[in-house]
Amino acid sequence: MRTTAEFRFYEELNDFLPPERRKVAFTIGVDRARSVKDAIESAGVPHTEVDLILVDGVSVDFNFLLCGGERVAVYPMFESLDVSPIVRLRPRPLRDPRFVADGHLGKLARHLRMAGFDTLWSNKWDDDEIVAISTLQKRTILTRDKGMLRRKEVERGYFVRATESEAQLAEVIRMLQLEGLVAPFTRCRECNVLLEDVSREAVLDRLPEKVRALYDRFKRCPGCERVYWEGTHFARMSRIFARLGDGVDGA
Ligand SMILES: [Zn+2]
Repeated sequence: MRTTAEFRFYEELNDFLPPERRKVAFTIGVDRARSVKDAIESAGVPHTEVDLILVDGVSVDFNFLLCGGERVAVYPMFESLDVSPIVRLRPRPLRDPRFVADGHLGKLARHLRMAGFDTLWSNKWDDDEIVAISTLQKRTILTRDKGMLRRKEVERGYFVRATESEAQLAEVIRMLQLEGLVAPFTRCRECNVLLEDVSREAVLDRLPEKVRALYDRFKRCPGCERVYWEGTHFARMSRIFARLGDGVDGA
């Protein structure tokens, strides 16, 4: 008979499981003392998504060795249970709102910058470069490539479920609980550079007539010289916030 442990995955972690394994207990083989991390990843769940593991009710780290017969409960980063007395696997890395987005998520990267979040993105970076940037600069990788998040050197990563860019932004803000950190009108959407105040007079000749009439506050990107006014950011942001209550699509 195989040596097995009983696993149950909670909340968003079920997104990674086949339908028959979602929200139910199932067994995973643990012959020859398997680490709990290895067992979790064998079920298809990237370790970056996991924040808390309870084995027979006790919180353990990824290296805990399963010998068979254990009951394992696995919780995601964003589970809002009050688990403060027990040890989480890392100190809230996903709440650190600095990102590196993979090559397919250029629109999401621009939206995040519009929301004020420091987000690096280039369609020239390969997976190795994205992982290296994440590690060196302690940035959270945003990707729709589960394989990238399964790499063992990845400490910070979030698998983006939605497929449409504004839904992706709403999802990232909601799931990483960034609502209170949104700061529109602070960062260039093209360069990721912080914007500088600039007087209306200094940019007047570059403004469309309608904008001249409607807005008084302007900012300029020191990187690309683009001029921003509040309308450009707030119109988009209010659309995004209208979606924050929506369900996550594309899961
Ligand atoms: Zn710029």
